[in-house]
Amino acid sequence: MKILISEKIADKGIEKLIQEGATVDVLPKLTRQELLDVIGKYDGLIVRSVTKVNEELYQHATNLKVVGRAGNGVDNIEMEGATKRGIIVVNTPESNVVSAAELTIGLLLASCRNIPGGNERVRSGSYDRANLKGVELQGKTVGIVGFGRIGSLVATRLKSFDMQVIAYDPYINDARFKKFGVEKKEKLEDLVKEADFITVHTPKTKETIGIIGKEQFKVAKKGVRVINCARGGIIDEEALNDALNKKIVASAAIDVLVSEPHPNTPLIDFPNVVFTPHAGADTVEAQDNVGLTVAQEVISALRGEIVPNAVNLPTIPKQEFESFSAYLKLGETLGKMYYQLEKDAVEKVEIVYSGDVATIDTSVISLAILKGLFEPVLQEKVNYVNASLIAKNRGVTVTESKKSTVESYLTLIQMKVISKNKTFTISGTIFGKGEMRIVEINGFTFDLTPRPYMLVAENIDKPGIVGQIGTILGVSKVNIATMQLGINDQEKRAMMVLAIDSDVSVDVLQFISGVEGVLKVHLVKI
Ligand code: NAD
Repeated sequence: MKILISEKIADKGIEKLIQEGATVDVLPKLTRQELLDVIGKYDGLIVRSVTKVNEELYQHATNLKVVGRAGNGVDNIEMEGATKRGIIVVNTPESNVVSAAELTIGLLLASCRNIPGGNERVRSGSYDRANLKGVELQGKTVGIVGFGRIGSLVATRLKSFDMQVIAYDPYINDARFKKFGVEKKEKLEDLVKEADFITVHTPKTKETIGIIGKEQFKVAKKGVRVINCARGGIIDEEALNDALNKKIVASAAIDVLVSEPHPNTPLIDFPNVVFTPHAGADTVEAQDNVGLTVAQEVISALRGEIVPNAVNLPTIPKQEFESFSAYLKLGETLGKMYYQLEKDAVEKVEIVYSGDVATIDTSVISLAILKGLFEPVLQEKVNYVNASLIAKNRGVTVTESKKSTVESYLTLIQMKVISKNKTFTISGTIFGKGEMRIVEINGFTFDLTPRPYMLVAENIDKPGIVGQIGTILGVSKVNIATMQLGINDQEKRAMMVLAIDSDVSVDVLQFISGVEGVLKVHLVKI
């Protein structure tokens, strides 16, 4: 694992990478050309917000498998180019949320009590409090726009100031507002009309640029105070300038500007606007967290494990990661079986989730199934990021359906692969603490724990076949760990799955297929 770090991250992150066995080059002073010249050597690249990870770079990055963004936004990373090449992009969206929420509170207090103004007076030798009078938070209403991670942390903290907290976030369900004891506003206008303080915590999107702008200041309370500790432009700077001039806005606190990193805004001239230089994540803890998290994610991605914060993949909630991991392993195993047992080109994959698994977001499990499905034929080129694109490019239709209950099992995943001439099915379940079982292959029922090497044979259901296969394996010094037989009474056929401790040669497979009554035999590697 060769990793290039092109912008500084916390030492703890670098130490972690080395501990995990990676070769790390920290080269923050490379010119663009130097970066392009060396990037081809690396499997992983870790950047912050400055390095442009774009088509030009991808063309030179022939070995690149993962880009780690130490931080939140991914504006400097071209996602399509990465996804197309199966490059996983990871970031660290949760590492700095507490720091950003705490700075929001700090800015809110600094602006409504004019703390920077007081500081300047004392430093210049004056103890005059004139024009520094502030307002209390107690009993006031704060309107939070964007009720995600930071928005909800801000809410919890401001409630301890005895503030009334209202929030607007059309993408969050009512239960979350209830959980935080926050009043949900269906319309932004209602929030703006009621709020004494407005703080924005949305991502910067087409929809949120200027979400607090001219129209909102028209209906806002006179003397409203605003805070932007999210992204420059979410509060429209021109509209804010106008509202400050008209004294509609009593004070503002701004950590993020449109013109970063070179502040170029008329807001600079207002003494009642407090600035910080995009310092929301600038704490010891956040930087350590960011470094450690990005290091761990880059390592996981390089090891082919699923990464919770992969940007070009569905995210997995932290608390559900363990149960997800078991399903991902099962999905990948089911997928891997197909091309090792059948040769027909896949036209359609139908995935049916039943029981417990049907209650969670299964999109990433479907990706695991596709990853497994294509891996035996495409090898390492398939990963969670490009699996669905590969399916699409190969003309494979993928459908997903869910059933709330299933006979005999609490949870079941069935993969149906439809090719020109036949339909192949395989089903699996999870028992206890993540133990996977294959319970059905092509209508034959099993209770099979998948192992790294398995021999799968179909034969006519008659005595003596198992013994003969056992003898051939014994003579070839291949140890059988377990054996399972699935019977199809109607067709008088059996499927035998032998878990074996080692690989077998083509000769051994040929011997087995020569046994009378054996219809076909395959070695499956998981
Ligand atoms: P998050 O994804 O957890 O939450 C964002 C919320 O905004 C989501 O709940 C989403 O539903 C909501 N949202 C999206 N569009 C909306 C709209 N049109 N109207 C209302 N709500 C909408 O993100 P987060 O981690 O809480 O981060 C919030 C912001 O803070 C981001 O812009 C992030 O980049 C920024 N941030 C800044 C700093 C800093 O240094 N100042 C540090 C960390 C994060």
